[in-house]
Amino acid sequence: MPQDYPALIAHGLDDAHGMAVLNPATGELIASVKTYSGGEIDQVIRAAEAARKDWAAETAKFRANRLRDWFDLIIEHREQLAEICTLECGKPLAEARAELDYAASFVEWFSEEARRAYGEVVPSFASGKAIVVTKEPVGTCAAITPWNFPLAMITRKSAPALAAGCAMVIKPSEATPLSALALEALAARAGIPAAILRIVPSDDPAEVGKLFCTHPVIRKISFTGSTAVGKLLLAQAGSTVKKACMELGGNAPFIVFEDADIDAAVEGAMIAKYRNAGQACIGANRLLVQRTVQGRFVKQLTERVSALKVGNGMEQGMQIGPLINDKALQKVEMLTDAALSGGATRVCGGGRHNAGAQFYTPTILTGVRQDMAIAQQEIFGPVASIIPFDDEADAIRIANDTPYGLASYFYTTDLGRAWRVMGALEYGMVAVNEGLLGTEVAPFGGVKESGLGREGSRHGMDEYLELKYALLGGLGAG
Ligand code: NAD
Repeated sequence: MPQDYPALIAHGLDDAHGMAVLNPATGELIASVKTYSGGEIDQVIRAAEAARKDWAAETAKFRANRLRDWFDLIIEHREQLAEICTLECGKPLAEARAELDYAASFVEWFSEEARRAYGEVVPSFASGKAIVVTKEPVGTCAAITPWNFPLAMITRKSAPALAAGCAMVIKPSEATPLSALALEALAARAGIPAAILRIVPSDDPAEVGKLFCTHPVIRKISFTGSTAVGKLLLAQAGSTVKKACMELGGNAPFIVFEDADIDAAVEGAMIAKYRNAGQACIGANRLLVQRTVQGRFVKQLTERVSALKVGNGMEQGMQIGPLINDKALQKVEMLTDAALSGGATRVCGGGRHNAGAQFYTPTILTGVRQDMAIAQQEIFGPVASIIPFDDEADAIRIANDTPYGLASYFYTTDLGRAWRVMGALEYGMVAVNEGLLGTEVAPFGGVKESGLGREGSRHGMDEYLELKYALLGGLGAG
């Protein structure tokens, strides 16, 4: 257990009646977490609403400084937070540290953006009148987050909200409430009022989702998770016309053209496909490889994938941890088995791994077709499914043949092709000759059924701000 572990999450524990949080690598109980009933969450929301006006009335510099203090504390507790993250979600410790740095970067970035919520003075349409546009905080916000990035999803939503002068109430995933609780404790230590950022774990997500979406006080709902749940929340939020930010599922194509630097493409595929054991919304779900270079690409990729170390993420040097639960494992098995019986070829892996009950062996399949379930659904596991293509038009057609539009990747050394394909891909994010694209300085988000709105970057603040137009008349002549 991390040394400071009890202190960071003590406020959220309930040993007698709490919700069990299990280590996916071992199945062991890590902690029992207090859950909130609908009535209790209603009180938390009302307390947030009562506190947020004072928070918004503080200077932007004051809020910026509290966020900066929170950032400093997160970095100071880097090791403890990374260990909590690995314990509850299973990712290797090195990846948890990288996630921690990513999570912290949003707090740092929005501590800076807090002071840049500029309005406008618009040239007027008539003399004696002035037009002023200000940016006002949206109000009290609610968020629901997934288990696969249990630290970063909390900060990517709460830091811009707090910077803008909003309050935020978050229900984390049932699987990973501890990272969220630890971040909440550090925010309180940084002087952020307790009512302004609240974590409310629950084992009844449907009840909390409905409460958030229909509550008259909540003005905005931010969700990261599956497209199915996102659609449900959007429909529910319609009843009270809430603003919504939806970061939903993906089906990322990872395209390797014949003119690509194959070494770089293999390197990128290792990150885009196998990071977090494939459990990432921006994970490469389909590897589209031009037929002429498929042999070389697959050979090099297989060497790398076969050498991956699979095991408990707390152990030194592990690269592939467990899947989050048995249901996830069964889905990966089902999609892989169906692809194999539908005509795909197993190059390596292809079954459970003996490191523990929830581990799956890193796998490569070739001969996958776009009409197979494995190419249509999110795999969310360490399985690379390789689809061959003939030319650029073919690659673009296959890549866009999905209702999703989150991340996409392609490798080429041809500048003209880079420009054309970048424009043709119907995705919110395109990585050219890169396997990792998340950063706090760029807008993260999807198109089509992958979502609405953007997180991070200067646009991330606007999600928590409303424009207010004021017309000042009667200014006359002096
Ligand atoms: P999920 O949709 O099952 O759960 C996400 C959250 O929603 C959890 O907190 C869960 O408790 C809650 N939830 C579940 N059912 C609900 C309901 N009926 N009403 C309200 N809330 C409900 O997704 P998951 O398995 O935790 O996460 C994986 C999914 O998240 C994948 O589809 C992945 O692509 C997506 N994801 C997207 C992004 C992004 O930024 N676009 C980032 C990470 C994960």
